[in-house]
Amino acid sequence: MTASLTVLGAGIAGLAANHAAAALGHDCVMYEAAPRAGGLLDSIEVQGYRFDRAVHLSFADQPEARAFFDQTAHAAFTPSPRCVEHPYWLKHPVQNNLHPLPVDQRVELVRGFVERPDTRPGHYKDWLVSQYGRALSARYAERYTEKYWTVPAEVMGIDWIGPRIHRPALDEVLRGAMTDDTPSVYYAPQMRYPERGGYRAFIEPLITKADIRLDHSLCRIDAQSRHLHFTNGHVTRYNHLISTLPLPVLAGMVDGIPDAIQADAQSLVATTVDLICIGVARPNVFKDLWFYIYDDDVMAARASCPGMQSADNCPPGCSSIQFEIYGSSRRPMMQSAEALQRDCAQALEKWGFATNADIAVSHHHHVPYANVLFEQGMEQRRDRVRTWLGSMGIACAGRFGEWDYLWSHQAFQSGADTARRVLASAT
Ligand SMILES: Cc1cc2nc3c(=O)[nH]c(=O)nc-3n(C[C@H](O)[C@H](O)[C@H](O)COP(=O)(O)OP(=O)(O)OC[C@H]3O[C@@H](n4cnc5c(N)ncnc54)[C@H](O)[C@@H]3O)c2cc1C
Repeated sequence: MTASLTVLGAGIAGLAANHAAAALGHDCVMYEAAPRAGGLLDSIEVQGYRFDRAVHLSFADQPEARAFFDQTAHAAFTPSPRCVEHPYWLKHPVQNNLHPLPVDQRVELVRGFVERPDTRPGHYKDWLVSQYGRALSARYAERYTEKYWTVPAEVMGIDWIGPRIHRPALDEVLRGAMTDDTPSVYYAPQMRYPERGGYRAFIEPLITKADIRLDHSLCRIDAQSRHLHFTNGHVTRYNHLISTLPLPVLAGMVDGIPDAIQADAQSLVATTVDLICIGVARPNVFKDLWFYIYDDDVMAARASCPGMQSADNCPPGCSSIQFEIYGSSRRPMMQSAEALQRDCAQALEKWGFATNADIAVSHHHHVPYANVLFEQGMEQRRDRVRTWLGSMGIACAGRFGEWDYLWSHQAFQSGADTARRVLASAT
């Protein structure tokens, strides 16, 4: 018998869709290309060290997603990330915390803030300059944009920003230039992380209850006859379909897609992230949950310390750190895994954390879809693709199905809401 709902992809969005379908009394089958469920929330285990797929902490706020995350025993942290621009370590965000810099530099940056142009921004660089002034924008935000988003800031639109980036008042910038005693302005007041089992522990209850066909990589959809084809030769029929696959991947598989829609889909760009996971056989080497990296001679944009998130992530008496190095089709990653690992080890030595001799484990992991890139005009192209897929009876959910900057709780909500919407027509 064909299940009422078929879900493609067993990340948190697909798993939440399955969960919502079950709550409505519908049966659901899931197909996942990987040998394990979890998607971006799966973990990486290396010689007793556990790493997430880039830094993950939960700040779920919607009641349904929050109640779900709260089922898992977790620790709560007040975010206090730092930013390194060797030899300076500044509290985040830098524009509110310039105090560690030499006086002349602080004066120049604050003057730039006071003289910031009052323009209506057309693109992200304009937005940065109008928020922070030219000097702060050029020294910090634009440099970080190239590292994290892999493109110059003028290529990006501004609709995605929302509350993610703090817009300071003059008093805040002045205070932060004069003292280290500044309040946290991080967009989430509390961050949560499972006591045991890494970030994946949050979704284990969903995985246990789901009917997931692993090692099933979708390669073709015949939306007329409602058939799915997988690379392992399996073919199956569906009633209702939800996909959490990246839109460009999905679009490439649907029979009869118009050329214009295919072109829109293939123009959507996401970043990749190469994760360098390092274990150090000494306790208390790192102090931060995560930190941002402004150094031009370090490829990574960000690093996080899994042993700080939970002691369960490290063997006893050891410490760990994970670096995130971004690429995209706009700036392909050309370095070998060994070169990336060397770069991260050199950074650890430069900052005084560890020498090569201290490194017990160094592991490379490539994530092909990390962040959706918000190039100007992307939203219109994405919406045309989603509308056409919807007209073919294919509902898309999750970070890469919605093609948006969704956190894990938002991906959960996207999957659950999409299942309820799709199944409303089935009852
Ligand atoms: C660097 C980074 C840091 C993040 N930090 C945080 C954070 O701190 N807090 C937070 O809440 N969120 C964070 N997120 C966001 C969070 O990871 C995502 O919102 C969430 O994991 C997306 O889940 P998803 O199910 O939509 O997508 P995915 O997890 O990508 O699931 C999609 C699934 O589809 C499968 N698939 C792909 N192709 C096929 C195919 N052909 N056939 C079958 N299956 C296929 C994939 O294997 C995958 O399992 C972060 C994300 C990144 C990239």
